Amino acid sequence: MKIKDLRFLNNLFGKKIIHLETPHIHGEKLLKHLKKYRDCKVYCLTPINYDFVNVEFGLKLSKKQYQKFLIEYYSKLKKDCNLQLHVHLNQYPENLSNHQKEKMIKEAYSFFINQLKIKPTEIVFGWYASDKSSEDIAISLGLKIIRRHLHIYDRWIK
Ligand SMILES: [Zn+2]
Repeated sequence: MKIKDLRFLNNLFGKKIIHLETPHIHGEKLLKHLKKYRDCKVYCLTPINYDFVNVEFGLKLSKKQYQKFLIEYYSKLKKDCNLQLHVHLNQYPENLSNHQKEKMIKEAYSFFINQLKIKPTEIVFGWYASDKSSEDIAISLGLKIIRRHLHIYDRWIK
């Protein structure tokens, strides 16, 4: 299937499943979307992906400011929707050390627990890229690994 068609299908059927990567740019649009589409599930990046977000989309916030922004923004969302983890490890996770993978996944998980008071139960890996060891770490935290699914990105919302 062509990318174009896939995006069409995602837009048609995936409106309630969102990969949230740019709340610092599209945060207001998403809040409006969530008022229209109730019971959304939102897979959220955490401060551990600061560098990824900075390179991909640009950030004018320091790491500390970014963390504070995410806590405030997610606290607004959590009343109305189901927040779960979205973690970008690496396109080739087998090239990361187990220690790096463990650090990233556990820090993302702890951010949810400690800062948002949410116990996540699901994780979507960025680019759907995971390997045995990253999956074992996720499973050890009680996280279900979500494979390819229809979804939209926050930046697609008009
Ligand atoms: Zn992603």
